[in-house]
Amino acid sequence: MSLGEIESRLRSAEAKAGREQGSTTLIAVSKVQPNERVEAILDQGHRVFGENRVQEAAGKWPMFRETYENVDLHLIGPLQTNKARQAMDLAQSIHTVDRPKLANSLARLAQELGYCPDLYIQVNTGEEPQKAGVLPIDADTFIQDALAMDLPVKGLMCIPPVEEEPSLHFALLGKIAKRNGLAGLSMGMSGDFESAVALGATHVRVGSAIFGARTATG
Ligand SMILES: *Cc1c(COP(=O)(O)O)cnc(C)c1O
Repeated sequence: MSLGEIESRLRSAEAKAGREQGSTTLIAVSKVQPNERVEAILDQGHRVFGENRVQEAAGKWPMFRETYENVDLHLIGPLQTNKARQAMDLAQSIHTVDRPKLANSLARLAQELGYCPDLYIQVNTGEEPQKAGVLPIDADTFIQDALAMDLPVKGLMCIPPVEEEPSLHFALLGKIAKRNGLAGLSMGMSGDFESAVALGATHVRVGSAIFGARTATG
């Protein structure tokens, strides 16, 4: 599917939900995609991208940024503490803050560097043991602790379990965000971004529907 088609589906979903046009940011998830495909999307004027791995992002975005201005990069994959500084150098948003150790590192680095990317706290809404994210029951405390550290927490992020109805997870994420006074909701991927928009997503993360299937796993 083309970028234009995804954008128009996004705008239709906003209209259907009675939401303002453009209230959802489309993050084009470029992980594992060949550079030519990423450049094709950049050439169409799109500037908001998502990457899963710091290493991979560091290998291509400084190069793309030499040619394309105003790239807005979102880190949407798990972040190791020892890569936090590099992530802060590269990305304007980090969607995967999920444990106190990482929050502490980000707070310390923010002090030292004098800036911090926008942060989203990942919630493991499906309580899956193999998945990152704070458990729903621990979310309020973790969010409030992070805010108390003066971290720029903008919202929450989730990746619903593959075999479950995503809407239930989107609704739960929205509820946790609302009661904590957070406006941002990073939710919805290629297969379910329209239902995420219906439930208030501010950022949808769409990879394969824009770029085509990934040739490697990421
Ligand atoms: C890869 C990935 C996406 C995009 O997935 P698609 O199904 O290709 O749209 C979104 N969010 C996260 C966290 C991802 O790792």
